[in-house]
Amino acid sequence: MKRVLVCGAGGFIGSHLAKRLASEGFWVRGVDLKHPEFSQTACHEFIQADLRDPQVAHRAVDSIEDVYQLAADMGGAGYIFTGDHDANVMHNSASINLNILEEGRKAGVKRFFYSSSACIYPAYNQEDPDNPVCSEASAYPAAPDSEYGWEKLFSERLYAAYSRNYGTEIHVARFHNIFGPQGTWQGGREKAPAAICRKVAETPDGGEIEIWGDGKQTRSFLYIDECVEGVRRFMDSGFAGPVNIGSEEMVSINQLAEMAMQIAGKKLRIRHIPGPLGVRGRNSDNRLISEKLGWAPSRPLKEGLRRTFEWINNQVKNRVASMAS
Ligand code: NAD
Repeated sequence: MKRVLVCGAGGFIGSHLAKRLASEGFWVRGVDLKHPEFSQTACHEFIQADLRDPQVAHRAVDSIEDVYQLAADMGGAGYIFTGDHDANVMHNSASINLNILEEGRKAGVKRFFYSSSACIYPAYNQEDPDNPVCSEASAYPAAPDSEYGWEKLFSERLYAAYSRNYGTEIHVARFHNIFGPQGTWQGGREKAPAAICRKVAETPDGGEIEIWGDGKQTRSFLYIDECVEGVRRFMDSGFAGPVNIGSEEMVSINQLAEMAMQIAGKKLRIRHIPGPLGVRGRNSDNRLISEKLGWAPSRPLKEGLRRTFEWINNQVKNRVASMAS
């Protein structure tokens, strides 16, 4: 059985990816600071430890052929765009990548997957909400709008340098807003789809929800199953990337909220309040992934949002029930 490592296996995407890899017949080791919050891990072995420690990285890569590196100090706009966590985000995530690459190289790991982000794209190309530019080649001259994005760009370059100098096989993807069941949905690190689903689930019909900014900022959102599919196809391709893994179905945050209300069967008023926003517009550009993999995400946003809303609605109901008992 081929032995693979998922770093960040206790997180949202990592826990789904571990499940997929186990179902494909891989022997999966996971490493994370924490176990998955909403399900049992599918990993055959789970190391609960801190990858900022080189000794942990050393132990994690032992006898491993493929590494999927998804561990990062990470959160939604409320976490990465306020500036309050910048030093931690940069130090923690860079340390993880430095350790895992160096220890992995020394241990003879054959292939690395690295999850970079659409947050590396220059802010100057994302000022028009209707026409953001996010083709892979537009990353330079670099001007990410957050330190989170700068760390991702540094680490992309780190993987490329290891590939150049040591011949390490790498696959670098830039994820665009991945969402779905079992993602963070409360507490400050949640992203827009989960936050909106939660607000809609919590608010009685005819009530009001709050949205940061004017709601005209645009984004695309990719459902978790298609993200995992893209990762697996990419890892087995001969292409190193970087490549976008995202949806091309761009919506405004107001439209996302309307969609969630429709799914819930509720009519709610939207109140716009100041909050951390990020760039004005962002959309995946899937020309390169289509060309290199002969595949690109294609499922409609509404389908994934429905599944996510149902899951979050149940979480909200369970929370209410446990508070009452
Ligand atoms: P997540 O926060 O759910 O998962 C990241 C995991 O890394 C967490 O479980 C966390 O505990 C773990 N981790 C953090 N520091 C660690 C450390 N020092 N040692 C060991 N584990 C540590 O996030 P996610 O949404 O699953 O994202 C996975 C990856 O994809 C991240 O690298 C993220 O930057 C990237 N990404 C995600 C999105 C998205 O929309 N979810 C978009 C772009 C990029």
